[in-house]
Amino acid sequence: MHDDLPTIAIIGAGPIGLEATLYARYLGYPVTLFEKGDTAAHVREWEHVPMFSPFGMNSSSLGISAIQAQNPSHVMPEADQTHTGKEWIDQYLEPLAKSDLVRPCLRAKNRVLAVGRDTAHQRPTDSREDAPFRILVSDETETQRIEHADIVIDTSGSWGHPNPMGMGNIYAVGESPDLKEQLPDKTKLQRGIPDLAKLEISKGARFAIIGSGFSAATNVLQLKTLQEHSPDIRGVWLTRGRGAATGPLAVLENDALPQRDALARAANAVANDSSWLEWKPEVEVTEIQCLEECFQLTLSNDEQIEVEYLIGNTGSTGDFEMLSGLQIHRCYVSGGPMAWAASMADASSDCLQQTSPGPEAIKTTEPNCFIIGSKAYGNDPRFLFATGLQQIRDVFKVIAERDTLDLYATLKPNLST
Ligand SMILES: Cc1cc2nc3c(=O)[nH]c(=O)nc-3n(C[C@H](O)[C@H](O)[C@H](O)COP(=O)(O)OP(=O)(O)OC[C@H]3O[C@@H](n4cnc5c(N)ncnc54)[C@H](O)[C@@H]3O)c2cc1C
Repeated sequence: MHDDLPTIAIIGAGPIGLEATLYARYLGYPVTLFEKGDTAAHVREWEHVPMFSPFGMNSSSLGISAIQAQNPSHVMPEADQTHTGKEWIDQYLEPLAKSDLVRPCLRAKNRVLAVGRDTAHQRPTDSREDAPFRILVSDETETQRIEHADIVIDTSGSWGHPNPMGMGNIYAVGESPDLKEQLPDKTKLQRGIPDLAKLEISKGARFAIIGSGFSAATNVLQLKTLQEHSPDIRGVWLTRGRGAATGPLAVLENDALPQRDALARAANAVANDSSWLEWKPEVEVTEIQCLEECFQLTLSNDEQIEVEYLIGNTGSTGDFEMLSGLQIHRCYVSGGPMAWAASMADASSDCLQQTSPGPEAIKTTEPNCFIIGSKAYGNDPRFLFATGLQQIRDVFKVIAERDTLDLYATLKPNLST
């Protein structure tokens, strides 16, 4: 460690926070990695889900080297092997967190509540810029303290901050941010991709799935598996658009990710051909009423439906309230940092085709504060881990002021293909 290097605070030990920590440590920067829960806490919430991209795209040369240096007998998946979120954690993310370079930096169960500057200056002046970041942290015992850093890299993700389920991107009548807290049985309202096999589902249960992305598609297929064992289960799939000619999800021609292609096709087939699930395109939810045993949903076409289980897959946007002490220009469409959002505006709708827009796009209007990983995308679901690695490379080009710095190119992975 070099005493003259700036200190770095990284917020969130998800896949990108871990990789960013490792990259910084290879370069000798002093790092503190704050994590509100356990390592990869968000991935743990969808760990039962198979990932689209193979291990070679879900790992870095640096990460593999660090794990192999720590434990030469560690068995890594093959580069072309696909895996679930749990396998990602067990075989890569957790060993990475335990590696000699990352472990000393990690402060698990330390939630960052807010970030500001250690200054009274509100105007963007040199003296404001020179003041260290002031970080309010809460530990396991909910004791709060202030930490400081010269550089902040926010990798806190977007998972965990779901978008409202109602029409017009706002809450439906009766849907409040704490609706779930009010329910006697909290399993009845789900966001994200719960492991439906673990729920105790009553006979004849009715489900509504809201949303038209890959999370909704995954839930539809989970429900199909449940329905094969309990034929009296019924479902309704609500999408605000009409989707593609093939069904709710667009199928990419010659999709390079076969798992993604198979998911889209299988979910579309359920939507088009099932007697137990009804796909209702071009409707939104205007009101949610909690009746004694079920939810009553009022739809934008004035129809009312009753379901016992409600699954919201309307996407998520990160926690930007945490950064309210900073001066971050955000995009009014995605909600993410402006420069990154602008650079993505014309990017392909297929996340696999995205290329790095370069270091300028990684800067925010708050000097020395970077927002990377899935949080940089705001409510745009196109983030891929591989793009996150490009963001890390670009952040350190800016921090180190070296245009050619690229540790990923210098260190090659020792993986078989
Ligand atoms: C079901 C699913 C499947 C996916 N499949 C693929 C795939 O096949 N290939 C691919 O490339 N990408 C895939 N992704 C997208 C992406 O790679 C993952 O979402 C990835 O986990 C994003 O990493 P991240 O580090 O940006 O954020 P996250 O994984 O969300 O990590 C953020 C971390 O920050 C912590 N945190 C949050 N707030 C705070 C706070 N205030 N203080 C301290 N810590 C905090 C969280 O606990 C978490 O550990 C998938 C996503 C999902 C949901």
